[in-house]
Amino acid sequence: MSTPTTPVSLDRFLTPAHRALWEAVDDFATQEIRPRVERMERAPHRVDRKIARLLATRRWFGVTVPATFGGMNAGHVAKTILIHRLALVSGAAAALLQASLIPVAALLHYGTKDQHHTLLPAVADASVLMSIAVTEPDQGGHIGGMTTAAEWDGRAWVLTGVKAHVGNSHLADTHVVIARTARADTRTSKALTAFLVKSGQRGVILAPHGRKLGLRGFSFGQISFDRVRVSPNNVLGEIGQGFDVAQFSSILYGRANLTALCLGLHETAVSLTAQYVSKRPRYKGKLADLSVIRDRLGEMSARLLMAKILAYHAVDMLDRGLSCDDELIAAKTLGHELAAQTGNDAMHLHAANGLDENHPIQRVWRDMQTTYAPAGTGEVQRRRLAENLLEEETGTDLRTPWSVLHAGRAQPPIPDEAVSV
Ligand SMILES: Cc1cc2nc3c(=O)[nH]c(=O)nc-3n(C[C@H](O)[C@H](O)[C@H](O)COP(=O)(O)OP(=O)(O)OC[C@H]3O[C@@H](n4cnc5c(N)ncnc54)[C@H](O)[C@@H]3O)c2cc1C
Repeated sequence: MSTPTTPVSLDRFLTPAHRALWEAVDDFATQEIRPRVERMERAPHRVDRKIARLLATRRWFGVTVPATFGGMNAGHVAKTILIHRLALVSGAAAALLQASLIPVAALLHYGTKDQHHTLLPAVADASVLMSIAVTEPDQGGHIGGMTTAAEWDGRAWVLTGVKAHVGNSHLADTHVVIARTARADTRTSKALTAFLVKSGQRGVILAPHGRKLGLRGFSFGQISFDRVRVSPNNVLGEIGQGFDVAQFSSILYGRANLTALCLGLHETAVSLTAQYVSKRPRYKGKLADLSVIRDRLGEMSARLLMAKILAYHAVDMLDRGLSCDDELIAAKTLGHELAAQTGNDAMHLHAANGLDENHPIQRVWRDMQTTYAPAGTGEVQRRRLAENLLEEETGTDLRTPWSVLHAGRAQPPIPDEAVSV
């Protein structure tokens, strides 16, 4: 019997097709991505375009796209496997894939038939890469404060404003841009609209790619929109539904994506540290022989196990159409916290050697820092969990969870054979 490569702790979440996908991603990441990692690390000023082309050959940008449009129709657990296993080797490669899958979710769930027919096949074969532009330089995560506006001039919507930290800013062909379309005194939930904007359109201005702390090779930069004309055919969803589009895609897809990205980095931090202390000489043996080192390593291992179970449990619930907003939030916020603690332990145990710019543990630690802010910072996530808890306790103002609201519109559960790798 062959040795299973998937962890037994995830057994209940994985079908045979998931396991095959897991192995395929591991092989791909080792053979195609690993050789590029050092190059990306040494060129923080550059966006790596080759990674997207490599991922495209596997059609993984279409993981959530229905088979009728050439996609894999493979669901949320499969999406997590892709991002998690890529992040094990390269945070940047995983970030590139996950950032494109958030706007694809918006397109899938809010797009018209025409938009689906035009864009989904192109997403599946990666001839079109997407981004979602919500965050603004001054407003950050406060979506209600956004100032990017679209005004109707009688023939088209005219969009003006600036978006910041847009994942795949420098690679995307089509941006989903959220802009204000109602007066300032309109409630945020009705004041925004989503638009499909091509990156080559007149008035779309990309700021030069800036060096970031982590995810070298990936781009998350600034895009300005200077009186960009958008046809009514390129409104995504209804006028006034932009808040819904942004929240839905961030909450149900973004959180899980960032959880998976962080999980891959977490796992690498643990294995690099275990290898390091097992080889580093101390007294008559190795560092790993010291009980104090084993104590830390044991704690790291326990945290990783928790993060893994949380991550897969949440997306499994999503695939099964269950109410799981809290699980997705907890997996994202705790996944990051647990990984960040492990990252610190890993840096401590590598001590001075870990500070070498080219040491892989430093790359992993830097990449981990980038998973705190996107798809909801820790404060925002914990506040949401507290609100949900208090609403439940007091029985007042119970909001329908996003996972329930959209369960009916979600992709059908994955038929095992539909997951092609
Ligand atoms: C790798 C990466 C990829 C990203 N990809 C995208 C993308 O594809 N599209 C996109 O639109 N954006 C993207 N972002 C931006 C991301 O969504 C924002 O970073 C996030 O919304 C927070 O905004 P901010 O970083 O400006 O922090 P701010 O919102 O300014 O927050 C600053 C601090 O204040 C806290 N805070 C803010 N408001 C509250 C509150 N009400 N209560 C308590 N504490 C609060 C925050 O938790 C944080 O600690 C990305 C960011 C990163 C790092």
